[in-house]
Amino acid sequence: MTASTPPLPDAAPAPLVDPFGRTVSYLRVSVTDRCDFRCVYCMAEDMSFLPKAEVLTLEELDRLATAFVRLGTRKIRLTGGEPLVRRNIMDLIRALGRHVRSGALEELTLTTNGSMLFKYAGPLVEAGVRRINVSLDTLDPHKFQAITRWGRFDKVMGGLEAAAGAGLEIKVNCVALKGVNDDEHSRMVAWCGERGFDLTFIEVMPMGDLGEDVSRLDQYLPLSAVRADLAKQWTLEESDYRTGGPARYVTVRETGRRVGFITPLTHNFCESCNRVRLTCTGTLFMCLGQEDAADLRTVLRTSDDDAVLERAVRDAIARKPKGHDFIIDRRRATASPRHMSVTGG
Ligand code: SAM
Ligand code: SF4
Repeated sequence: MTASTPPLPDAAPAPLVDPFGRTVSYLRVSVTDRCDFRCVYCMAEDMSFLPKAEVLTLEELDRLATAFVRLGTRKIRLTGGEPLVRRNIMDLIRALGRHVRSGALEELTLTTNGSMLFKYAGPLVEAGVRRINVSLDTLDPHKFQAITRWGRFDKVMGGLEAAAGAGLEIKVNCVALKGVNDDEHSRMVAWCGERGFDLTFIEVMPMGDLGEDVSRLDQYLPLSAVRADLAKQWTLEESDYRTGGPARYVTVRETGRRVGFITPLTHNFCESCNRVRLTCTGTLFMCLGQEDAADLRTVLRTSDDDAVLERAVRDAIARKPKGHDFIIDRRRATASPRHMSVTGG
């Protein structure tokens, strides 16, 4: 795999359209299930990770992602686990950058916990990445330690500085956690505003088993409450900015920055869904909240013919469901048994 691999041919095949008329143009790829943090809402402390043989190689990930680009994917987001802890990950990012340079891909981006940005901010820009999402749930180093278990606050702060210095646009993702960071949301708006970062609050989702000590029902804080609280201190102006995903945005008049609210537990975004998710084992999930999936690893490993691979992708998209059924209640506190780090957040 090299960054000089030839660009795609001119004659583009028909785009991916699902049975509900939605064009699928956004691929999220979890490049590893491993992580250097153990965030309480995402992982148990003693996680067991996938054996290497099950995980797609960087070459396989490139081949698969490139098939999606040929089929009209315009945006790729790398996620995980922590994408930047995967060995030689820059080889994949540089290789995918060729699709940005050719114009086939509008955006190549990633979601990261920020721990490795001090090292990779510059190389990411060189590879064609322009914007990144960085997860940061608190500005308090002690709370940061409690939430991430293994994270180093100063390293993430240094990473954010390096990323901004390298010219990356930054959006901070903050999971709203009841009784943990609810007193900090307004400060977060100010802090991001001062640095020119956008900010998105995320409602905690019922994914994966976190161990008995962590109850998701206790963490759940509806974003309607977050928004109402922010509105007491900030002028939130409605924005029609949309990404096809579950986020709704406002512009904060005082800072001029966007603040988003991702409320995946409500159904109101499924009709505009433009995305699918690929795990690091080559399993394609057509919906974050549904179990149906397509095994693309077997196709990748049994045939070198990209036409066969493209057909498998089209067959999967033909099964994309209309929507999800997350519910947080006492009977079903875990709506999906998959960890977010497997499907990619
Ligand atoms: N490790 C990277 C990071 O933390 O940004 C990328 C992967 S992480 C799974 C992607 C996003 O999912 C992060 O913003 C994280 O806060 C969020 N996330 C993880 N588990 C979640 C959950 N149960 N509910 C809501 N968001 C979650
Ligand atoms: Fe790792 Fe991201 Fe999950 Fe935290 S949210 S444990 S940083 S994958």
